[in-house]
Amino acid sequence: MRYSKALIPTVKEVPAEAEIISHQLMLRAGLMRKLASGTYTYLPLGWRILTKVMNIVRDEMNSSGAQEILMPSVQPMELWAQTGRSVDYGKTMAHFTDRHGRENVLAPTAEEVVTSLAAGEINSYKQLPFNLYQISFKFRDEFRPRFGVLRSREFIMKDSYSFHADKESLGETYQQMYDAYCRIFARCGLEYVIVEAESGEMGGSGSHQFTVPCENGEDVIVYTAGNKYAANIEKADVDALPRAAENKDIAAMAEIHTPGAKTIEEVCKFLKAKPKKLIKTLIYKSDDKTIVALVSGDMEINEEKLRIIAGGSIEMANDDTIKKLTGADTGFAGPVGIAEKCDKLVIDHSVAAMAFGITGANKTDYHLAKVVPGRDFPLEGENVIVADIRNAVEGDTYQGKKLLFRRGIEVGQVFELGTKYSKKLGCKFLDADGKENPCLMGCYGIGINRIVASAIENGHDENGIIWPINIAPFEVIITPAGNDENIINASETIYKQLTDMGIEVLLDDRDIRGGVKFKDADLIGIPLRITIGKKSIAENCVEIKLRSSKDIEKVPVENAATKANEIIQSLKVK
Ligand code: ATP
Ligand code: MG
Repeated sequence: MRYSKALIPTVKEVPAEAEIISHQLMLRAGLMRKLASGTYTYLPLGWRILTKVMNIVRDEMNSSGAQEILMPSVQPMELWAQTGRSVDYGKTMAHFTDRHGRENVLAPTAEEVVTSLAAGEINSYKQLPFNLYQISFKFRDEFRPRFGVLRSREFIMKDSYSFHADKESLGETYQQMYDAYCRIFARCGLEYVIVEAESGEMGGSGSHQFTVPCENGEDVIVYTAGNKYAANIEKADVDALPRAAENKDIAAMAEIHTPGAKTIEEVCKFLKAKPKKLIKTLIYKSDDKTIVALVSGDMEINEEKLRIIAGGSIEMANDDTIKKLTGADTGFAGPVGIAEKCDKLVIDHSVAAMAFGITGANKTDYHLAKVVPGRDFPLEGENVIVADIRNAVEGDTYQGKKLLFRRGIEVGQVFELGTKYSKKLGCKFLDADGKENPCLMGCYGIGINRIVASAIENGHDENGIIWPINIAPFEVIITPAGNDENIINASETIYKQLTDMGIEVLLDDRDIRGGVKFKDADLIGIPLRITIGKKSIAENCVEIKLRSSKDIEKVPVENAATKANEIIQSLKVK
């Protein structure tokens, strides 16, 4: 490709709207332009990179036995109603009514569509297993699109879905996908960590996430030394804190007037108390049931853990529900006397471990002090359970080992779904005995755009992007610095030789200063640069430099293409 003919609109200034480096560099290097909040047009360089990632993904999927299909991006809402996810997916799911009054969904994922497809095609166990995948746009009306393509509204996802007659078969395919994902991320030049994950609204049992550790990641990875245990914070288990010894000397509960103090911070400020002295009381609805959850005031509730205990989806109760339950305004709920009124009281170990604490009095503008767990509210009972329902924090252990924390970007996730979708959508098969069973399913997703952004987050310097060779938009950039005939001739010769060798070359034939060319070459991050300047050509040489290194190697013009080819081949991850 000749630079003079290409649309590579690089920008010097850092765009104000871009908070993190990958977003800034994707705009500055002319890979993409924003259309609207969370949607982007990919320009030629950006699309070349995405295509390379998709080709790696496709190659590994095909060689692990998955078959490519393409499903529509507009799906009937009806299917989502059948699995109950029209409600669970909430506002993230964008939908519209068509001219015939039918409700449609812009595909955020495709479990419903693929399961109903399979339901129509599968009769016998003899057809199983199979694994279907597609690479297509998905749309999610994210609450807060940000960080460029890391959390966008429209993005490209590879999603695959496998169908099985038994658990062993599902386990085998799950492992094949897991291994294929390892190869995909390695070929894309990413360093990644595999963590145990929650399956969220996907449902199902086992799940792993593939995460790229980096400061700007939205996910928190919790792990023990040597990554022996690694989990997403949504899933990470913690050892239970030891229960407080019984102490009969603690005075009786005392009511304190705390006018207007509703939040943990407000109560702490008012009473000059530390958050860890408070019992945080949170009220949720799960269908028509009311669930009260307690955690230590300095810790965060983990809604995924609570959801599993609730046995269904949960949402924060509104002010009316809270008033009905506690008799008080929101902000003054507490556990004393609540077990009799709610459907379930779930107490985190951090609260059971307190000798006594401060908590809402179930009376507007009042709190209670010296509340003793087990004395003033029950720690056991028919509807009372003490469990792990909080996020891990610094100082926690798991199986006695210290937990460590780092941030990461989720680039892919694999799930064992079980029969959640097949049961609801009638995806069944007849087994060898002629008995009808629902298919077992697995599903496996990869965020194509997130791979690109993750590669930049961990591959850049102050001058721009440093691409891993396998996903670079071009492998070599030739930079003639000067207009002398011998410079131009040498550039054209090497360009032709490399192109004939199958190398992807960008020839910077623009009529501009060498300095500007170097800046652009660094910004767009092509792995290998061949520079042809006045000095070197006088010695019949060119300069070869890797984007990732400061070293420059002088090579005779006639050897340049062969040498560059050698370096490129040695860098490639097969
Ligand atoms: P997150 O927890 O980050 O919202 P998710 O777990 O909901 O993601 P999945 O349903 O597992 O996402 O989708 C599969 C893959 O699609 C994810 O691993 C991620 O790489 C990518 N992905 C999901 N949401 C987005 C988004 N808003 N923008 C870009 N990529 C996304
Ligand atoms: Mg996920």
